[in-house]
Amino acid sequence: MHEIRKDVVRDNWVITATEFVLKPRDVPVKKLSAGEGGPEPGYNPHCPFCEGNEAVTTDEITAFREAGSPPNKPGWTVRTILNKFSALDMSGELDMQKDGIFEHGNGFGQHEVIIETPLHGQDFHRLPLNRIEAVFKMMRRRYNDLVRDERIKYIQIYKNRGLFAGASLEHSHSQIVALPMVPANKNVLSQYYQEHDHCLICEMVKAERVKQERVVYEGDKFIIICPYASRFPYESWIIPRRHTSHFGDINDDEIKEIALLTKMIITAVIDGLKDPAYNMVINTAPVNVPHQEGYHWHLEINPRLLVNAGVEIATGYFINPAAPESAAALLKHLFAGQAETGAE
Ligand SMILES: [Zn+2]
Ligand SMILES: [Zn+2]
Repeated sequence: MHEIRKDVVRDNWVITATEFVLKPRDVPVKKLSAGEGGPEPGYNPHCPFCEGNEAVTTDEITAFREAGSPPNKPGWTVRTILNKFSALDMSGELDMQKDGIFEHGNGFGQHEVIIETPLHGQDFHRLPLNRIEAVFKMMRRRYNDLVRDERIKYIQIYKNRGLFAGASLEHSHSQIVALPMVPANKNVLSQYYQEHDHCLICEMVKAERVKQERVVYEGDKFIIICPYASRFPYESWIIPRRHTSHFGDINDDEIKEIALLTKMIITAVIDGLKDPAYNMVINTAPVNVPHQEGYHWHLEINPRLLVNAGVEIATGYFINPAAPESAAALLKHLFAGQAETGAE
């Protein structure tokens, strides 16, 4: 059975299975991830992100490093640099121009890379908890720095793990793109808030907690659900229970919990779905524009098991062959198994 479900958060539609169709054992894409079971994490002389190869990257923006160790040298745990192949830069002024029906601006913005570990082959979800916390703290630091530039209107933090999710380098990293415009789907929640005077995501969390059909886990500070209109098989969202618009306002206690939950849910996805590629995406409020308060930031984990085909490109509607309710049941089971054995 299939249904066409409204994706209220993006103002879009998803064609989704309502009963289990795509089972983990039938996952078609097998080895397009970074790959588990490779050699022990270590140094790769050809990788620009490895500790010891700092000289071949762009200059460090900031890093968490041993006291006294100089920038652009070894001794760091998390390191942020400009993307060497960035199409955007913040030198110069933002300049938007119209030419009849055509409109363009200069390549204003910033594209950064957060190198999550000095070691090659060390996967994000395999990092010790305090190191995953450090990655989130680095994301918060960069967000709150970029937001201070009034010309920036949206900050997208994301991670591509595996070739099939768009990662061009194997060494574990996240990216930040700071843009001078707001993506259209990031305005939907603010519009809803203005029309209804309450937050759509808060409402969604309330409804999911009553139904319990798509809840994977309820923590003190976050809830994990497989959203009603999941675009990807086994898509899950980690949503702060506190209504917070900006990811940059995450506090240290919340970072502690989201580090644990991210580690556990990614481990569940990797172990349960044959080591797939995935994207991790942080959706957050537009910045330096009015009406930001209606947004409620949340983190998505999107396993990339299928290739997006013509219908997604043509209509913008996704087809999801795994019922979100069944996906939640499986992830809940895998998650509970880890909680019993204790997260690494
Ligand atoms: Zn490396
Ligand atoms: Zn809210």
